[in-house]
Amino acid sequence: MSDAPTSPDAELNAPADLSFASLPLSAGLLATLAQLEYRSMTAIQAASLPLALAGHDLIAQGKTGSGKTAAFGLTLLSRLDPRRLEIQALVLCPTRELSEQVTQELRRLARGEENVRILTLCGGSPMKPQITSLENGAHIVVGTPGRLMDHLERGSLSLAALNTLVLDEADRMLDMGFHDAIAWVARRCPAERQTLLFSATYPPGIAELAQRFLRQPKEVKLAEQH
Ligand code: ADP
Ligand code: MG
Repeated sequence: MSDAPTSPDAELNAPADLSFASLPLSAGLLATLAQLEYRSMTAIQAASLPLALAGHDLIAQGKTGSGKTAAFGLTLLSRLDPRRLEIQALVLCPTRELSEQVTQELRRLARGEENVRILTLCGGSPMKPQITSLENGAHIVVGTPGRLMDHLERGSLSLAALNTLVLDEADRMLDMGFHDAIAWVARRCPAERQTLLFSATYPPGIAELAQRFLRQPKEVKLAEQH
């Protein structure tokens, strides 16, 4: 990766050691990363994981393919308690395709953990099977803002036990007109939580969202590749 961290937060905290073993991750997660042949952190992972694992809210900017999913995935999996069958993390994504990709990557990262249940909840799929899946319980939900609002309104989704909220591809969600839905969902999350915002670009709408829903966020920005 030729991306160089440019923000003070990232520079101060990016470890010189790019191995995942330099992070406070469980032996189980480290073993899974080795199995997946993730040998070293990508630039955005190296800049964001130390901050996110320390519990900070984060605004992280990095282009597509930079490994953002593992940056938030390892953070929420580190905090997850599989013995509590409650939704502990929610990931908002702009589209069904991106939601499915995130779910797939989270399942890969969680495969060494005990029975982590991850649900994808997107529009365009029938409600009833989603409601049944929710009744059976989940630890992590990934989905699009509109459908998540729908479940929250019906009471089929409870966020009372949530500890991590992720806004993935936040700029695209804003482009797609999801601002109000994101705000609606975020307001229904417990105030005591970690919020991680990932975006490829940083338009004014992102700053507004961050100001409303993140607490003293650290910023991680990677320079454009030349
Ligand atoms: P982004 O969300 O930034 O577009 P992804 O999280 O989808 O990127 O990751 C892109 C690809 O890189 C995925 O196939 C993922 O499995 C892989 N990947 C992520 N982190 C690493 C790593 N540290 N080492 C090797 N491959 C990685
Ligand atoms: Mg992504």
